[in-house]
Amino acid sequence: MANPVVAVVGRPNVGKSTLFNRIAGERISIVEDTPGVTRDRIYAHGEWLGKHFNLIDTGGIELSDQPLLTQIREQAEVAIDEADVIIFVVDIENGVTDADEQVARILYRSDKPVVLAVNKVDNPERRSDVYDFYSLGLGEPYPVSSVHGVGMGDLLDAVIHRFPDNVANEEDDSIHFSFIGRPNVGKSSLVNAILGQNRVIVSNVAGTTRDAINTSFTTADGQEFTMVDTAGIRKKGKIYENTERYALMRAMRAIDDSDVVCVVLNAEEGIREIDKHIAGYAHEAGCGVIIVVNKWDTLKEKDHRTMTDFTNLIRQEFQYLSYAPIIFVSAKTKQRLNQLPGLIEEVNAHHKRRIQSSVLNNVLMDAIAANPTPTQNGKRLRIYYGTQVATAPPTFVIFVNDPELMHFSYQRYLENQIRQAFDFSGTPIHLIKRQRQ
Ligand code: GDP
Ligand code: GDP
Repeated sequence: MANPVVAVVGRPNVGKSTLFNRIAGERISIVEDTPGVTRDRIYAHGEWLGKHFNLIDTGGIELSDQPLLTQIREQAEVAIDEADVIIFVVDIENGVTDADEQVARILYRSDKPVVLAVNKVDNPERRSDVYDFYSLGLGEPYPVSSVHGVGMGDLLDAVIHRFPDNVANEEDDSIHFSFIGRPNVGKSSLVNAILGQNRVIVSNVAGTTRDAINTSFTTADGQEFTMVDTAGIRKKGKIYENTERYALMRAMRAIDDSDVVCVVLNAEEGIREIDKHIAGYAHEAGCGVIIVVNKWDTLKEKDHRTMTDFTNLIRQEFQYLSYAPIIFVSAKTKQRLNQLPGLIEEVNAHHKRRIQSSVLNNVLMDAIAANPTPTQNGKRLRIYYGTQVATAPPTFVIFVNDPELMHFSYQRYLENQIRQAFDFSGTPIHLIKRQRQ
């Protein structure tokens, strides 16, 4: 279910990203650790006193050719649009600046709870200056030193205290899905086209801004879907909506709340680096994934090879997503769009599939018989049994004599055998090896 969202805002150099990293801790994802991917994160998970939340560093959403003040204002708007609680960061070294006052005014006019953090209070003597910041009209200023990790407890207490009560109670059976992708691939158009073809049952009312942009509909066969957090229903035209960092942030938000995500590519423009970045997050999050190639109508000279060629290209560029089905659609002509809900339903079923242990072990034993386990230094890998310990994504524990002996290639072989025996298309599956004497 959706975690509350906390956004960090403030003018440059007050220490937003230092504070962000401090709160997010050390959890660096694999995708971000691969070369070619920007290291500075703008979105991360945080936890305090058992409360989980998502954290956005709005300072990372750069609008390169905009004046500084416009940028700061836009970042504050992002925070207001996206967050449940805003941490407004100022710094003790500069005191209250004009830019701080401008941001404060924007935040004040919104109805979002704001926690004011006065950063760079590295030593206690400076604490008395903190009271100056009451003049911003945003309540009690919390002195912190992000570099030294001082004051974090009080700050985070204040943050989680302001979380909305209703965030986790939206239990429903509908399949949550979303369209993610870089700007202009056609996400909004897909949203509108899908809604146009189905019966919209509720435009959500309650609670946070975020709930308000989920829309539910039923298909002709009665399956209920919830389209999560999509750009399509919101008004367009804000400057930041067309930046890649913002697209990435939205994608991560949508991934968190979805059972299945549709990674949208643009047939007209082909595959870009940012597409891989976005898809990588979907894969890592472990949700169901469908690759949707939109704007298929724009390829005029199609023959029987066009689709195969495009498929091969996708398989080559998104190797970690080999399990994801690919569908070629057009939001404009509606080509194949009516197949999409069914495909989402199928992937969702695979994502939640549970395999009986006895059936699983038959598959494992057959796999071992066909391709004996490897040996190393005269010691043979023994596989005792396997069992599924979780769904969404399906996760299997394999008990072995020595996990070190299970090499990546043999593990992948087992995974492939499991995939051949059971239909898990659209979902990652996780294999965990565990020692049993
Ligand atoms: P941002 O532009 O708001 O994201 O600011 P950064 O996090 O990049 O920090 C700007 C500068 O302030 C960097 O040189 C940081 O090392 C420094 N800084 C951040 N937090 C603190 C702090 O608590 N105390 C001190 N003395 N410096 C800090
Ligand atoms: P988003 O930024 O990903 O939400 O993309 P939009 O839905 O706003 O679409 C960007 C542009 O692509 C708009 O001008 C759309 O009219 C156009 N577009 C979207 N889908 C299609 C399609 O299937 N075919 C064609 N030819 N154009 C499309």
